Amino acid sequence: MELAGHLAQQGELVAFPTETVYGLGADALNKEASKKIYAAKGRPSDNPLIVHVADFDAIHKIVKEVPQDAEKLAKAFWPGPLTMTFFKNDQVPDETTGGLNTVAIRMPNHKVALEFIRAAGGYIAAPSANTSGRPSPTLAEHVYEDMKGKIPMILDGGQVGIGIESTIVDFTGDEISILRPGYITKEMIEKVLDKKIIIDPAVDGSDPNAKPKAPGMKYRHYAPKASLSLVEGSSDAVREKMLSLAKEAVANGQRCGIMATKERLKDFENLDESIRKGLVLKELGHEDDEASVARELYLVLREFDKEEVHVIYSESFADEGVGKAIMNRLIRAAGHQVIKAD
Ligand code: AMP
Ligand code: MG
Repeated sequence: MELAGHLAQQGELVAFPTETVYGLGADALNKEASKKIYAAKGRPSDNPLIVHVADFDAIHKIVKEVPQDAEKLAKAFWPGPLTMTFFKNDQVPDETTGGLNTVAIRMPNHKVALEFIRAAGGYIAAPSANTSGRPSPTLAEHVYEDMKGKIPMILDGGQVGIGIESTIVDFTGDEISILRPGYITKEMIEKVLDKKIIIDPAVDGSDPNAKPKAPGMKYRHYAPKASLSLVEGSSDAVREKMLSLAKEAVANGQRCGIMATKERLKDFENLDESIRKGLVLKELGHEDDEASVARELYLVLREFDKEEVHVIYSESFADEGVGKAIMNRLIRAAGHQVIKAD
């Protein structure tokens, strides 16, 4: 930890675990250090970084003002998977915020992350520690795959607990709005604030002309090498459709990937060997446990990139609660290819 803190203070990059995904950290107040993050990830320079702090009071040094509602959310959810945006002051270099006059801040709920932030001086800019366009890392091994030879240190904290990136809530517009859905849901936030908030119209991707306020949301993310389609509909219809799509793919000489919850995978395990041998099955958590789906999502997408599959079919999930965050990532990974089963 001492070495990690020293490296960051010298302007070097250190990857570290958080409860959401692994972060690629650098001193947020050092513009040369921030630039190294963009170079290591191949990240577009207009895509701002989230600044990670280890205590709430630290934010006063880098923002103009903290609205009362933001303070309420911090009390309820920090440390935790919630990021908030504020108007920044001059302490934060433009390189960290992709040229914006606002800054996104979060306090992660992970012992190693908090220790590292403190050891590094209190302000760590960190995006997810993947190469731009690849699934976010949920294991230190994933960081190593993408960053070996590019950064001097990875802190290994094992598999992360949540597995998808933080919810981003914007406090710099006319209305409080969610810029990116995550584990902290709209309903949880509304309950704490005792009022309705909005979801940025660009979030669900249905309107191609809507301009997302979180610049990162406009980039194609997490696309696996094989063509991925989501199968949507009532449970029985999805079963029939996925089975027939899998059989058809194998009959056409393709290797076919299936992403589904443990319960649904059973249907594929029992297929005739002539079909079964053309399938690659990956378990995506459990049917009645959305958190388990979120935790495995990126891991499964990464594993598929190592398999020689031509097509992948995934089941889809209810677009509410944590399911909204899961679908937000899945639909982008699928490039909006959705097959209706009903
Ligand atoms: P990542 O750290 O890879 O999960 O990406 C950070 C996300 O936060 C990206 O989608 C950014 O566009 C978004 N973000 C960071 N700073 C701001 C900001 N000041 N205003 C709006 N979105 C931001
Ligand atoms: Mg990312």
